[in-house]
Amino acid sequence: MISFRARILYFNEDTCFLEVQEDSLYYYKDGMLFVDQQSGFVVKCGQYSELAAEYLNIVIDEQFIDQLIMPGFIDCHTNYPQTEIICTFSTDLFAWLNTYTFPKEEQFKDFQYARKISQFYLNELLKNGTTTALVMATIHPESVQALFEEAAKLNMRIITGKTLMDRNAPEFLCDTPELAYSDSLNLIQKYHNQGRCLYSITPRFSPTSTKEQFKLESIEQVEFAQSLYPENQSDIQIFEQSNLVDKKSVFAHCVMCPKSESDQLSNLQCGVAFCPTSNFCYGAGIFPYHEFVQKNVNFGIGSDVGGTTDFSLLKTLQDAYKVVMISQKDTKNRKPMTSLEGFYRATLGGCKDLHLEDKLGKFEPGYEADFVAIDWFTNDIQKLRYETIEKRSGKPLNHLNNYKTSTFQSDKTMLEQRLFGIMMMGDQYSIRATYIIYKKMGR
Ligand SMILES: [Zn+2]
Repeated sequence: MISFRARILYFNEDTCFLEVQEDSLYYYKDGMLFVDQQSGFVVKCGQYSELAAEYLNIVIDEQFIDQLIMPGFIDCHTNYPQTEIICTFSTDLFAWLNTYTFPKEEQFKDFQYARKISQFYLNELLKNGTTTALVMATIHPESVQALFEEAAKLNMRIITGKTLMDRNAPEFLCDTPELAYSDSLNLIQKYHNQGRCLYSITPRFSPTSTKEQFKLESIEQVEFAQSLYPENQSDIQIFEQSNLVDKKSVFAHCVMCPKSESDQLSNLQCGVAFCPTSNFCYGAGIFPYHEFVQKNVNFGIGSDVGGTTDFSLLKTLQDAYKVVMISQKDTKNRKPMTSLEGFYRATLGGCKDLHLEDKLGKFEPGYEADFVAIDWFTNDIQKLRYETIEKRSGKPLNHLNNYKTSTFQSDKTMLEQRLFGIMMMGDQYSIRATYIIYKKMGR
């Protein structure tokens, strides 16, 4: 067994954002995490003093002074072939796709090139504390093969699949339904459930797939899709007719989601990726955060690299917070997205989105030990803010109790305030280290 002593936080259920109950999350001011070296699974997590009494002669393998450990971040929507063209200027999404994205994607037919970008991309995920991602590749099997093979070397749980496109894209990026089927089948047989790799069937969005093959991001896309499928009411119906909608489906963006679709997403328990930064960049629309929360739609956070400005899910959460605020500009009793909600979405919420909540996102026995060590502050202004909160709270941080105490509410408020600093001011430099199956990965 290998052991880590630190402040530890993880979420237990998704009701934490509605009304925080004592068992919705666990926070240990002086916690201990035990991992089985053979399996890589969590054995136990709890208060250090309690575990020290249970496990006599306890050996601490790694100790974090005043850092916070939490499960690794989950990016629910990201495009690795767009790594190099991140944040390139364009007037709208279709112009961006035609000018930058499609020509870049063509290069991924070359396995060696795909491998080089995969290495860079995965390293960026790790630097930013992202341990698992649902990643778009290109139509080329080589692009999937390269990403899976590089992820396997790092032992990362990555989900990807060949993009399916057979129309409205340059000829060099179109396949046929037959080729899409045979390529996907070969890749599934070779990689799905091999190590930690998981395969996803990945239509880019409905405009680029015919019925025979098969997400919406802006009003132009909605109109375009509806002109191609005039008999259909919504995007989800387009996918549904091809049996591509069930609880394992993940839809990105969803900023143009009519009520009927959000009902459907809720009823079918589909996953959704909330990508605030790229939605801002493309002026795509406002994510219906409170409607989705109310309807209990599963959603996690997506960076949407490279339609975004950064790999960091902390920076993505900063935009998520702002979207939630501006969406309530005409509302009296506003409900901001709290830091607990934000970190829930970036960890366990993302796992639920991708149906990995039985494997990842908690420090419970049997869970895979992917986690991040986070600094409370990394620059002078963050430090000044942190120290001011300390003074105002009247209680230094190390007096925070774990949540199984009668001081639950006041402790919760204090923790929320401290986490808010990381969520709103943090970036990749807030991530002290990222651990994949308890092993520290290089920065
Ligand atoms: Zn996207």
